[in-house]
Amino acid sequence: MATPIFKNNDIELLRSQVQRADRVVVTCHKAPDGDAVGSSLALFALMRAMGKSVDVITPDMPLKQLMFAPNANLITVNSLNEKLAYSLLQKADMVFCLDFNALHRIDRLADAITDSKAFKVLLDHHIEPENFCDLTLSFPDGSSTCELLYHLIYALGYDKFINREVAQCLYMGMMTDTGNFTFGSDYPDIYIAIADLLRFDIDKERIYNLALNTYSADSLRLRGYALNEKMQIFPEKGVACILISKDELERFHYKKGDLEGLVNKPLCIPEISMSFLFREDPFSGNVKISARSQGERSVEAICRDHFGGGGHLNAAGGEFNGSIGEAWERFAKVLTDL
Ligand code: 5GP
Ligand code: MN
Repeated sequence: MATPIFKNNDIELLRSQVQRADRVVVTCHKAPDGDAVGSSLALFALMRAMGKSVDVITPDMPLKQLMFAPNANLITVNSLNEKLAYSLLQKADMVFCLDFNALHRIDRLADAITDSKAFKVLLDHHIEPENFCDLTLSFPDGSSTCELLYHLIYALGYDKFINREVAQCLYMGMMTDTGNFTFGSDYPDIYIAIADLLRFDIDKERIYNLALNTYSADSLRLRGYALNEKMQIFPEKGVACILISKDELERFHYKKGDLEGLVNKPLCIPEISMSFLFREDPFSGNVKISARSQGERSVEAICRDHFGGGGHLNAAGGEFNGSIGEAWERFAKVLTDL
């Protein structure tokens, strides 16, 4: 991607809305990842530097390993404090919706956003955004919402408000959404942005270690178990899958996020170009599916057609209403057609 081109009219509209706004709310998708938390807290720090009253509201708790990010302790979590989140949204003059394209991606926060009379802005890089904001800035070619936000800050002329906190958060999102600058980052502009952010003395090694390379002992043991005892390989199909039951998760004192990223691991095997992780959710009883692929093989189509989900060509997910055994039966049928 080259630098996103924002329309002049959009920038003028946004600037005038920011100027007249006193109270700003920033939200992002559920199960917030590095890009969601990074873009939200970057905009928080920027707006605060501009003298606004600003709050970040997430649908549920961000991944624990991201809570080191500056001001993460100030996030209002909707699933824990729905009343406060609702009242902040009703009092807001402006709401930014970051890193999601559809209201179902924010769970119960969707009603509070819909009820709010604030001027709403969507900034996102997922395909086909729903039309629920007054201004939609959608650039599916962008590596991350953080990279889009970086360019938006410059387009608005707010770069003088970038400080170390803003830079740390923007870096975190660009780094995590590209797998530490592995995928979706084969163009010069992203490194020009990084070079600029490094002027703020950010510690990129520390951000990498905390955001992408931190596991609890339980999580590390569960990952070892999953790869050693649960990974099935179908070499003639180029497919790997891991199915983990509720009981197995409980044995390793599973907490949300403990299996984050594991679905990528089987793709390390040269013959494997599609990987699936099925996890029986200890809370809902349903089976959550995460899928990754390489090249033109589409996990999005499989998740959409068979598991009521979707996502991107190479990274998708879905949900199966039933036990892990029933999910396996469904998947075995899918596998015969691959
Ligand atoms: P993950 O495997 O990291 O949970 O999700 C990868 C991608 O798949 C996400 O970026 C999201 O776009 C998509 N995704 C995950 N779960 C679902 C789901 O249940 N429904 C839909 N439509 N997309 C999903
Ligand atoms: Mn993102």
